Amino acid sequence: MSSPVLPSHGRLRPLGLPQVRLTGGFWHERQVVNASATLAHCESWMERLGWLANFDRVADGTTGPDRPGWPFSDSEVYKLLEALAWEAARTGDPEAEAAIKRLTARVARAQDPDGYVNTCFGHGDQTPRYSDLEGGHELYNTGHLLQAAVARLRTHGEDDLVRLARRAADHVCRVFGPDGRAGICGHPQIELGLAELGRALGEERYIEQARLFLDRRGHGTLRDIPLGRAYFQDDLPIREADVWRGHAVRALYLSAAAVDVAVELGDDELLHAVERQWERSVARRTYITGGMGSRHQDEGFGEDWELPPDRAYCETCAGVASIMVSWRLLLATGEVRYADLIERTLYNVVAASPSPDGRAFFYANPLHQRTPGKPADPEEVSPRAEGGTRAAWFDVSCCPTNVARTLAGLHGYLATSDDDGLQLHQYAPCSISAELPGGRRAGLRVETGYPRTGTVRVRITADADAPWTLTLRVPAWASGATLTDEGRTREVAPGVAELRRAFRADDLITLDLPVEPRFTWPDPRIDAVRGCVAVERGPEVLCAESHDLPGPAALDALVIDTRAGLKAGDDAAFARALLPSHPGSAWPYSTRPAAPESDAGWIDLPLRPYHSWAQRGPAGMRVWLPAATPTPEGE
Ligand SMILES: [Zn+2]
Repeated sequence: MSSPVLPSHGRLRPLGLPQVRLTGGFWHERQVVNASATLAHCESWMERLGWLANFDRVADGTTGPDRPGWPFSDSEVYKLLEALAWEAARTGDPEAEAAIKRLTARVARAQDPDGYVNTCFGHGDQTPRYSDLEGGHELYNTGHLLQAAVARLRTHGEDDLVRLARRAADHVCRVFGPDGRAGICGHPQIELGLAELGRALGEERYIEQARLFLDRRGHGTLRDIPLGRAYFQDDLPIREADVWRGHAVRALYLSAAAVDVAVELGDDELLHAVERQWERSVARRTYITGGMGSRHQDEGFGEDWELPPDRAYCETCAGVASIMVSWRLLLATGEVRYADLIERTLYNVVAASPSPDGRAFFYANPLHQRTPGKPADPEEVSPRAEGGTRAAWFDVSCCPTNVARTLAGLHGYLATSDDDGLQLHQYAPCSISAELPGGRRAGLRVETGYPRTGTVRVRITADADAPWTLTLRVPAWASGATLTDEGRTREVAPGVAELRRAFRADDLITLDLPVEPRFTWPDPRIDAVRGCVAVERGPEVLCAESHDLPGPAALDALVIDTRAGLKAGDDAAFARALLPSHPGSAWPYSTRPAAPESDAGWIDLPLRPYHSWAQRGPAGMRVWLPAATPTPEGE
């Protein structure tokens, strides 16, 4: 069964190919663009920049310190391999299959006889192996190689990629095992690769090695750096931490691996530690988009309530990593809050990154762009993560391949099974079938225009001779949702709706989710957006763009009349807004509060999905909109 995460036990079991197939709609469109454009786009950029030739140069003995690319560029090749493996299994595309063989052959030639494979260290005049665990990313790269091999193993079976990954994993266990060097990598990831390859191959020592790496971290194992040891979560053991801190992607990859290890080893203390950190970080350190990371300096989490919209970092990779953590916690515990956050992050971080043609990407995902970015040159590498426009490739180009592997395997995040039935967590047109214990067959087809419309039709496709339970997630925002089954309609509360019987083919269950636009107010302790409102529609966060206004400066001044409500339109929702003009002043502070906005000049302001912002060209944009000052009673 092909799924990126296959725990040996847990509350829920993931369903992947061939049980789940996306058949149309929002996510299927993105899977198709990913397949037809993004995968080749990534390979051609890595060829052009010499990141692929780095492997050839190791094999030919011609590499040296002049090697192009950052030390982690190998990992982009491995993330692309993972994406190709999911894609080849999804469609049987011969080009994806050929690309896997082509890339694997180049990596395999570069592997040293003892299993070490890395193009940046240890060859020719390069710095020696494992001489910079803080910044060298050697084990991080290897971790991505192992994850690519897991994808291949689960979709195809043993091949050259799996064999080379196994040798690499054995090498890591020899060098860093219980009797070896007590080191860890500055960037967690090897733990994820080892845990999953251990599951896929039934090699418990790989899982044990992952646990060893986890427990070594947090004791000042790495050298201190100017950003402090919290940057790579080496400040505090993961079992003791209460909240995510430091570099967001590192913190999240580490937690994802910790769930894997906790589940495999029955380590409840470790599982509870991650649940605790998730809860506090989601309550206080997460943007309305699901984005994580407030600080540019260290691509990191800020303090509690430090969530400035214009300085939001919200790296696309942190969105991917957050989904990885929540998916593992959902499988382990069955708690619906994890699926809620996955949905929020999918629509408002992952979907925001790629352009409609799949050849440009957002790296940072701010919630407020004051000045429109410069149009990105499709032939140029963007030197920076932010900029307000999607770029073809980046100097540090972690995000495009992370989007590619996530979209290629996205069907694996929709549904699960347990001993009693099927659980639908995300709504998209798809077909699902599964064998349940006792020889019961469960099958269904989902038809929906979600998220644009809120009606989700679930049609049963197989007769069951014994009862089973169908569980449908009712998102936390969906108060007033209804469920119609066997001609009866009832209201269902946020959480889950369950139906249990011996379903017959053609039975139809309809879930109606209220996707009218709605105002959302922030906790007042998020001081950067106090006095503002956001507008959401179903799982989508909406935003105002300067394309719909006289200019970017109008975004600075606009205020929203929340009492006037919201109007739904075809493409946009509309809020009643005022664009006040402010007299210029030499000093933007006063001994008196600003006068309330005048009642003249209100407009209907279009609000569109955040995930498609800047698709009409560079734009000013904001998610959080100042609410008009209420007029005092009696005036
Ligand atoms: Zn990234």
